[in-house]
Amino acid sequence: MTRKTNALQENVLDPMVSQPVTVRRIIWENDDTFTLTLDMSALGEGFHFLPGQFNMVYVYGVGEAAISISSDPARTSSLDHTIHRVGLVTTSLAQRKRGDVIGIRGPYGSSWPIDVARGKDVCIASGGIGLAPLRPILYTILKNREDYGRVILLYGGRSPLDLLYRVELEKWANDFNVEVLVTVDRGDSSWKGHIGVVTSLFQYIKLDARATVTYVCGPEIMMKYTIDELERRGVPQTQIYLSMERNMKCAIGFCGHCQMGPTFICKEGPVYPLPRVRSLMDRKEL
Ligand SMILES: Cc1cc2nc3c(=O)[nH]c(=O)nc-3n(C[C@H](O)[C@H](O)[C@H](O)COP(=O)(O)OP(=O)(O)OC[C@H]3O[C@@H](n4cnc5c(N)ncnc54)[C@H](O)[C@@H]3O)c2cc1C
Repeated sequence: MTRKTNALQENVLDPMVSQPVTVRRIIWENDDTFTLTLDMSALGEGFHFLPGQFNMVYVYGVGEAAISISSDPARTSSLDHTIHRVGLVTTSLAQRKRGDVIGIRGPYGSSWPIDVARGKDVCIASGGIGLAPLRPILYTILKNREDYGRVILLYGGRSPLDLLYRVELEKWANDFNVEVLVTVDRGDSSWKGHIGVVTSLFQYIKLDARATVTYVCGPEIMMKYTIDELERRGVPQTQIYLSMERNMKCAIGFCGHCQMGPTFICKEGPVYPLPRVRSLMDRKEL
């Protein structure tokens, strides 16, 4: 198999060619979101990616969609993608069965910088499916938990049934000393937790602003309010990282579908330090 490397994206398979991989398992996280586990053993030496990167996932005869990798980067024989069923490709992916073959190309894009957080507190703020691209950085941090100070996870979903990775949320809190704070927009009769938007969770935590690195992913409106809140609390912009999303086609910086002002999200992003995209986020319909 051809592997092409470049300075930015080492270990990228030939960027224009999807590689066939087999579906190992599909787990439904809620009514319209599922985690697709792919068997990567056919790719020989394994598949390596960095937290925050994504693949183009291809259903033969249907089409491709950009999907973040949501599994542990240290696990190379299989790969998870957590997928929200919204349109043609994701609905078709939801219908795959164990043993089916689909295509992937990648990994693409920038990653959550992890070294900058060593010795510091970490605050991860996520909304909805935005927790999926953050899960790999959590796995990585928790492998070396003692290298970091406080680890705070703020997570919001539309309703209790929409929350992802519920078993892991408890495990991270109980076994790894992660301060997990969860909220929902709408509760139900079983919900005893907080109700409100993700930013309303900030009232429960006191951040040591200068010593905190933050990673943010969710709907753009959630990211904007989260950034406002972090800045109000004095977290320097250079310590805030976020993952941007735009519709994508080629994923290698040619087609321009994911262009946001001067940047192509597929190449320079999806993960950006806030100062790089702050002014772009304030401009409507960019
Ligand atoms: C870097 C990156 C990582 C992503 N990671 C994930 C992930 O982990 N899990 C996941 O479920 N999805 C993820 N997405 C989003 C996913 O790529 C899109 O939802 C994709 O279009 C779905 O394909 P589809 O054919 O099912 O839907 P489509 O038929 O393409 O679209 C369905 C609907 O969503 C709208 N839409 C499509 N893409 C976008 C977009 N990017 N922004 C706003 N509206 C859009 C369309 O206009 C349409 O209304 C990611 C996107 C990017 C750019």
